[in-house]
Amino acid sequence: MANGFKLITVLSIPIYINYTWFIVFSLVVSTLAMNYFPQMGPYYSPLAQWGMAFVTAFILFTSILMHELAHSYVAQRQGITIKSITLFVFGGIAHMLGESRTPRGEMKIAAAGPALSLLLSGAFWGILYFQDQAMPASPLMAIAHFLANTNMILAIFNLIPGFPLDGGRILRAIIWERTGNIGKATLITSRIGKGFAIFLIIIGLWDILQGAFIGGLWLIFIGIFLQQAADEGYRQTLLHRALSSVTVRDVMTTPVIVVSENMPLDRIVNDFFFRYRFNSFPVVLEDRLVGIVSLHDIKDVKKEEWPYKSVKDIMCADLPDFTISPGSGAIEALNRMVESQHGRLVVMEDGKVAGIISQRNIMQMLKLKADLSNT
Ligand SMILES: [Zn+2]
Repeated sequence: MANGFKLITVLSIPIYINYTWFIVFSLVVSTLAMNYFPQMGPYYSPLAQWGMAFVTAFILFTSILMHELAHSYVAQRQGITIKSITLFVFGGIAHMLGESRTPRGEMKIAAAGPALSLLLSGAFWGILYFQDQAMPASPLMAIAHFLANTNMILAIFNLIPGFPLDGGRILRAIIWERTGNIGKATLITSRIGKGFAIFLIIIGLWDILQGAFIGGLWLIFIGIFLQQAADEGYRQTLLHRALSSVTVRDVMTTPVIVVSENMPLDRIVNDFFFRYRFNSFPVVLEDRLVGIVSLHDIKDVKKEEWPYKSVKDIMCADLPDFTISPGSGAIEALNRMVESQHGRLVVMEDGKVAGIISQRNIMQMLKLKADLSNT
């Protein structure tokens, strides 16, 4: 994970924190300590205000994490793997490998997050309700009041029916169920999502003109983020639909050009990388796959050392990392290539190299499908 670090693992999902998150966390803490709590109870000491702000911000971000975990838990029960959850500047994102196969399933996953936020909001309202009425402005009450409100706002914001927000996903599932066409459902709801994003940007600009600079800027950022997410979500759905029935065997290249583990680097650069212009080659020893060597492994070695180093000194020998079975789906292959950074995956069948697959193979298949559907 590039711009962050792993915090903990929950439900066997690693939780990452993006560095941008620290900016928001400090903004929330300082806003609470300097503006919110002084208004709620003017007699809190500065130390108490900062302490309360810290605790409140911590519970708020835990609430956001629980929202994502609710989506993830329901998705896991449908057999979808959650690779990670990342907390970043605008909240959380659960990285799911795969999508629900049915509209009902999609609806349940989408609804779980806002449902949990509403539940949390209700719990904090409950604390407020049962609070000792003799201490109306206790720190506990001030904290619960803020969390009851923000969890409710979180639920309502996410229920706006524009894709990829949760509400947009629910609406998409409803249209999908009615029409049987997930592509059309995604198109409609991502347009609503983009419309809402533009609305946020306009409100943000208006706020800035009125002098509310920071608040306006936030709205503009969120608007831009949502607009990009709507576009990206729509492209992803089209990609998944086009590739859903394509397997690795359908697109892999055969025969495979392999290198031997004892070849010196200057030789494989000249005889293989320059000649075939692939960015990686499987490495074999007596017909047996032992590794993969890629261009960026070679770039790490000084040019003067190339004649004295052989492929086995620099190759990646972690076979599960770069091999795939011919029956796997093209989408899985694409995900694996993006994650592993090998560029190409070696297709293994019965312990033997059966072919090789690259992003280019998959893109060519996509283009072919698009060309044929236009005729
Ligand atoms: Zn959500």
